Amino acid sequence: MNCRTLFLILIALDLAYDVILRILAASRRGLPLPEAVRDLYDADDYARWLDYSAEKRRLGLIEKVFDALILTALFATNVFAAVRDRLPGGEGAKDMLLILLFVTFTSVLSLPFDWIREMRIEAKYGFSRTSKGIFVRDEITGFLVNAGLTCLLCLFLSKVWERFGARGFFVLFAGLSVFVVVFSMLSTFFMRLYNKFTPLEEGTLRETLTELFSRAGYRLENIYVMDASRRTTKVNAFCSGLGKFKKIVLYDNLVNGYSEDEIAAVFAHELGHYKRRDTMKNTFYTVLLMAVVTAAAAWFALNPGISAEYGFSAMNPAFGVILLESVVLNPIITVLTIPRAAMARRYEYRADGEAVESGYGEALVSALKKLSRDNFSDLNPHPLIVRLEYDHPTTADRIVAIRRRDAERERDA
Ligand SMILES: [Zn+2]
Repeated sequence: MNCRTLFLILIALDLAYDVILRILAASRRGLPLPEAVRDLYDADDYARWLDYSAEKRRLGLIEKVFDALILTALFATNVFAAVRDRLPGGEGAKDMLLILLFVTFTSVLSLPFDWIREMRIEAKYGFSRTSKGIFVRDEITGFLVNAGLTCLLCLFLSKVWERFGARGFFVLFAGLSVFVVVFSMLSTFFMRLYNKFTPLEEGTLRETLTELFSRAGYRLENIYVMDASRRTTKVNAFCSGLGKFKKIVLYDNLVNGYSEDEIAAVFAHELGHYKRRDTMKNTFYTVLLMAVVTAAAAWFALNPGISAEYGFSAMNPAFGVILLESVVLNPIITVLTIPRAAMARRYEYRADGEAVESGYGEALVSALKKLSRDNFSDLNPHPLIVRLEYDHPTTADRIVAIRRRDAERERDA
């Protein structure tokens, strides 16, 4: 089989996977909600939410089919080489221009979809706070970041290739891995650059959290409240700190919107993650993803035949980057997501279990309900979609598991 056929099959498979998942999602409409979460939404609100997600799903489907048709047209022909030949400048300049043209082309094509999504659908259902000005600014920023990163990647790849040859990909992989690991270790440091941390005031909440923390065997440096509400409505809490003394950080959304028991429950859950080093295991998966992507890049560079099939006279790094980004990356992510999500869901159950063991089972249930309501979570997703993509179990599944565990704990006591 030649590579062109392989890429066209990948585009078709990616489309088929997306269409099947959307059909499955649509098939859930009108089914009764699980018992554990039936009291969560007001019936009218929920009906409105169903309309909203159906409309978004329809638009997403049209966009996906449209994108697949465009990609098929591009990768069935030798249009990339033909366009590159007509570009001005030396070899390097031609490559950069080819990438810029491609990024511009795809950004322009996605513009109407972004517009309908943000300005029509989100606004119609009252979820969007985006003004025309912000929309234009976001689109321009997105375009610049995308174009800049893609050009940089291309430049980097061709330099590494020129200098080190095939070994260069090991250098590339090692560099990327170190970057990811260091970045995740320094995440609190970066958060401090963008947010304000205020020590949590004295009181019962502080005492409760300190107690939970020392019971887990850690020594506390301080508890901080972070002003996350400026950017997000998300609710979170986490622990950080290398060495003996640790910090606890709570999002202000959590402190302001939840009862003390609920905050303690959310915190006990996060503490469960922290004790088991769950975040670190996630980082490992990112490194694995990069290994696969680097291997794909190496395969492309070592097989000049692929470029030749598309009408280039030698291995072309710009074409390689475009190919990786638009055809190869998605299927890789899809496949790697399945085991990663399964692992993440197991961690969530385990962290919930920690909160139950600390005596916060029912408080966690009420916090979860509040969280789902605030985020307008899908309460009844298709079980297969959960298996393939969800990194958290559904709210209903979590509540059932928490209550079962709580009952066991009471029986044992
Ligand atoms: Zn969690």
